[in-house]
Amino acid sequence: MLYKEPEDGEKIRFDKGKWITPNKPIILYIEGDGIGPEITNAAIKVINKAVEKAYKSSREIEWLEIYAGEKAYRLTGDRFPKETQDMLLKYRVVLKGPLETQIGKGWKSVNVAIRLMLDLYANIRPVKYIQGLESPLKNPEKVDMIIFRENTDDLYRGIEYPFNSEEAKKIRDFLRNELKVEVEDDTGIGIKVISKYKTQRITRLAIQYAIEHKRRKITVMHKGNVMKYTEGAFREWAYEVALNEYRDFIVTEEEINQGKSANGKIIMNDRIADNMFQQIIIRPEEYDIILAPNVNGDYISDAAGALIGNIGMLGGANIGDEGGMFEAIHGTAPKYAGKNVANPTGIIKSGELMLRWMGWNEAADLIEKAIDLAIKEKKVTQDIARFMGVSPLGTKEYADELVKIMDTL
Ligand code: NAP
Repeated sequence: MLYKEPEDGEKIRFDKGKWITPNKPIILYIEGDGIGPEITNAAIKVINKAVEKAYKSSREIEWLEIYAGEKAYRLTGDRFPKETQDMLLKYRVVLKGPLETQIGKGWKSVNVAIRLMLDLYANIRPVKYIQGLESPLKNPEKVDMIIFRENTDDLYRGIEYPFNSEEAKKIRDFLRNELKVEVEDDTGIGIKVISKYKTQRITRLAIQYAIEHKRRKITVMHKGNVMKYTEGAFREWAYEVALNEYRDFIVTEEEINQGKSANGKIIMNDRIADNMFQQIIIRPEEYDIILAPNVNGDYISDAAGALIGNIGMLGGANIGDEGGMFEAIHGTAPKYAGKNVANPTGIIKSGELMLRWMGWNEAADLIEKAIDLAIKEKKVTQDIARFMGVSPLGTKEYADELVKIMDTL
């Protein structure tokens, strides 16, 4: 048996997408590859401190480590063992360090496998400027966006075959013979799928989030002018949900252009994907919630992250109706592995998001404040210190600094 489940603590439960968090929830964590173990353990230390400071002993997280990636391979010969999958299916909430995936070969992404297994259909990435960071923008304080990226459809679904496989040959034959579309014999095949059901459920989540958090705008990012029946349909289905199910809360940009007033309602508009990249640089203040299919959402997250100066600072949540996986945007940064230099803020911010989804906002607020103060005081890791011209803290020392700051709050 790979795991000994905690005797104390309870599972987080879900009721129609709402989280029911006990006072002692069992939460899984995966250390991850590369810099993963260092940043994940730093995050756990900071999260535990925030919970202790906010709730004394009345609330506490019971952490349970599960193995995936390199560590799982070392222990079991499998990067995503069945026992790990069973734990994920049982407990459904996990803080995850980055996991390595190879380019153009090798094993399938464990990150994607977990998202699909728990049906974590929304990848939510807040991108908000933190005072003191060096940004390429003149007015970075205007950056306050949240990206809602569809997680389970589109090209990353993994319906993909090498050019010389039997499957690719069958698909090429089908295209030629049935649809009269010519494709060269040396063509690898990847299939883009975007469904109405999946588009509409993430649209609902984004709109509900906008209503609950008083956000002012939702922009659908798509390339529907070219990919009409996938990305164009994404746009159409998103508007359909907004106007059929949330009419009282939504006004479209088109209606505003025709003279209607927003009157406190959420403005819904859409932009073509390539345009979005220049828009968020030139006019970041005009973008608030960005709702995107999987691939667009992936690209725009890093671009938006760059606006605040450092993608290492960004946290992310993968949310479904029954579960959540919380992970930083960045990857395993292998050149920094084991050197105690990586910035753990991304996964700490992911932990902050996890606490918010659990309804433990007081603890989440403490983490947010501690990070803001650390940056203001230039207590930062090397990736930021090099721009500030100050000497850097190590990963561990930075986490200790956040703990120390929380003591003063
Ligand atoms: P990456 O690991 O994010 O690293 C790219 C660069 O970003 C690093 O060289 C470093 O830049 C900087 N960086 C990222 N995280 C940092 C941190 N916490 N602290 C300081 N600097 C940080 O991207 P990659 O090299 O493209 O990907 C490496 C592996 O990670 C791949 O196997 C990829 O598949 C995987 N990955 C996993 C996830 C996930 O688990 N969700 C996500 C993305 C990528 P400088 O060189 O400028 O210092």
